[in-house]
Amino acid sequence: MRFDVLTLFPEMFVPVQSSIIGRAEKNNLIELNLINFREFSKDSAKHVDDCPYGGGAGMVIKPEPVYDAYKSIVDKLDYKPKLIYLSPQGKVFNQEMARNLAKENHLILLCGHYEGIDQRVLDEIVDEEISVGDYVLTGGELPAMILIDAISRNITGVLDEESLKDESFNQKLLEYPQYTRPEVFMGKKVPEVLLSGHHANIEKWRREKSLEITKAKRPDLLK
Ligand code: SAM
Repeated sequence: MRFDVLTLFPEMFVPVQSSIIGRAEKNNLIELNLINFREFSKDSAKHVDDCPYGGGAGMVIKPEPVYDAYKSIVDKLDYKPKLIYLSPQGKVFNQEMARNLAKENHLILLCGHYEGIDQRVLDEIVDEEISVGDYVLTGGELPAMILIDAISRNITGVLDEESLKDESFNQKLLEYPQYTRPEVFMGKKVPEVLLSGHHANIEKWRREKSLEITKAKRPDLLK
C-alpha cells in the first residue's frame, strides 16, 4: 500500500515511522511519502494561506498549491488513487472503514490546517471526507496518522492473521481480557482456564468474556 500525504507539517509524522508501522515500511509492505504542499506555492515567501472571502477569523489554505501538489502525484500514474480529505465534516472513521481501505493499493491523504482549505479545490480532487470524531483538531496530521496506522495493520503481512482475528470490533465485539506472566500479581491470579492448555475451553471462555465486556462497555455494538 502506498500512502501519499499532502501536509504543511511533514515533521509531525514521526509516530507512524516506528514500531509495527515503521517495520511494515522497512519490509516494503507500506510506502509512506510526505509531500509538503508549501513547496508548490508560487509566492516568493511560500505563503499558502490567505484571508477568507466574506470576512471572519483565521486563514484559509489557497487552492493552487494543494492542486499542484496533487497533480505532481497523479500525472505520473495511469490510474486514479482515492483521495481522502481529513475533515471534521467527514464520515466518522471506524474499523470497517479501515478494513475496506486496506484493500486499496494507493491512497492520498490531504491534511487541512487553519480554517480549512478553499472549497473549489476540495470539490475538484476529494473522493471521500473522513473524520476521526466529533471534535475539531488543529490540523489533519493526527487524523492522517490514525488512518495510516489503522489501515496498515489490516494489510496482509503487517500483523500475523491471529492477532487480527480476535481484535476488538471484529464480529462487532470487544476483545476478551489478556494476561501475561507473572501468574500471580498483587494477590490476583490469572484465570485458571488460561493455564489449562484446553483450547476449546479457552475459546469458550474468551467468547463469553467478549460478550460480557461488550455488553458492559459498548452495548450499542450488540444491537
Ligand atoms: N473550520 C473547520 C470547521 O469548522 O469545519 C475546521 C478546520 S480545522 C481547525 C483544520 C483542519 O484540521 C481541517 O481542515 C482538517 O483537515 C483537520 N481536522 C480537524 N478536526 C478534524 C477531525 N475531527 N477529523 C479529521 N480532520 C480534522
